[in-house]
Amino acid sequence: MGIIEENERLEELDKKYIWHPFTQMKEWTEDKPIIIAEGRDCFLKDIYGRWYLDGVSSLWVNVYGHRKKEIDDAIKEQIDKIAHSTLLGLSNVPAIKLAERLVQLVQKSIVSSQQSNTLTGNPPSPPFSKGGFHEFEKGESINSSLVTRHSSLNKVFYSDDGSTSVEVALKMAFQYWKHKGVPGKNTFVCLNNAYHGDTIGAVSVGGIDIFHKAFEPLLFKTYRSPSPYCYRCELGNSYPECELACLDKLEEMFKAHSNEIAAMIIEPMIQAAGGMITSPTGYLRRVRALCNQYGILMIADEVATGFGRTGRMFACEYEGIMPDLLCLSKGITGGYLPLAITLATDEIYGAFLGEFRDLKTFFHGHSYTGNPLACAAAVACLDLFEKENILENLKGKAEILNKWLKQILSLKHVGDVRNIGLMAGVELVKDKETKEPYDWAEKRGWRVAYHARDNGVIIRPLGNVVVIMPPLSISEQNLNQLLTVIKEAIVSATEAS
Ligand code: PMP
Repeated sequence: MGIIEENERLEELDKKYIWHPFTQMKEWTEDKPIIIAEGRDCFLKDIYGRWYLDGVSSLWVNVYGHRKKEIDDAIKEQIDKIAHSTLLGLSNVPAIKLAERLVQLVQKSIVSSQQSNTLTGNPPSPPFSKGGFHEFEKGESINSSLVTRHSSLNKVFYSDDGSTSVEVALKMAFQYWKHKGVPGKNTFVCLNNAYHGDTIGAVSVGGIDIFHKAFEPLLFKTYRSPSPYCYRCELGNSYPECELACLDKLEEMFKAHSNEIAAMIIEPMIQAAGGMITSPTGYLRRVRALCNQYGILMIADEVATGFGRTGRMFACEYEGIMPDLLCLSKGITGGYLPLAITLATDEIYGAFLGEFRDLKTFFHGHSYTGNPLACAAAVACLDLFEKENILENLKGKAEILNKWLKQILSLKHVGDVRNIGLMAGVELVKDKETKEPYDWAEKRGWRVAYHARDNGVIIRPLGNVVVIMPPLSISEQNLNQLLTVIKEAIVSATEAS
């Protein structure tokens, strides 16, 4: 069979057998699919030999580019030892090594950001200067104003992807209170526009109606607080005059229901899948303070933001806050293999300790939890992060991105541009004056993506928001090329009749 026939056969077989995620399959089967055969650095090659810039890091996971020698070698070395053994009742070498590295990294990154915030005169003022959570004694009242004691994120619980890291965090938070003998804390607070994954627990704490509403009868009860979406403030305010009035709403919720709320879950600094919604300065810090004040655990979902994507190793560093549970995935293996982690404080871990018969065990675990190949890849990634000076090199790239975003903001149908580090969103609007959005069904974001694709760039929009999230290793030249194509694509999809 010739190359063309073989490629056409692959296209047919794809349409015949694969049900693609987040994809209207009727449309998919009417189109010609792009089938990726190879990758190198920040580029993807399709089966016809066409190369594309990977403008969304293969769905926000790739950090160092494709076929990175050090990660390839680490996986090859591990595969010569063992590909997988269970973490239920056994341990494995790469999982142990990675756990130590991660605990140290989180301590170093977040704790030092708390110290440097103090040094630069921008301290998160007490009671949240230390972050962490008050350690409750059994039966202790939780509604008093609390003195925060520091409790470190020293325990690593492995799972397989972002959604499972969130499920684990929710279950741990819920059961923590049971073990502490605090009754009634059976619900969670999340934000409008939040996205924490697609499993039912993660959807329950989601806030994107277009994805989540259909499943409403299956979801557990949560309280939803306003999103810090300043461009379209739910309360009709403008920042900074509002003095973060959206957090007054959160406080009202906490005040009224703290005895029901086990934890608040939040994407620190940027609600990513909700439309790259960056939160204003001081927002995260005050959320931490409110959680402390009302005896509510704080879950930071850094599945998208972790590992340098925002210009810091972790987004929590921007406001020097330490959550009680931290969810990590995506970039952890440099975009190579599925792996996720929920970090828990000593305080939470301690609540699960007891005799075998006490049934305090955390009954949760997946078949591939702590997979040695994925953990070996993740250890190699942490080495690379340091060796390649990723954060330092990002500064120049973030400046390039900012320069382009300024230009893009001046376009006729661009209402807002938002970014932190190398995570950016461009919100397209029908009318810039009134902020009237394009109808979802017009697929404006997709029209930009299709145009970009024709010009050698792969991006994937979120509704009317064009997402820009290249691998952190992208060269300045390729970043400029990416943004040139995206700008032209926006003009073409919104200004050409
Ligand atoms: N949390 C956040 C903040 C995410 O952005 C995502 C995925 N985009 C998830 C959780 C879910 O991760 P996964 O798709 O790996 O389950």
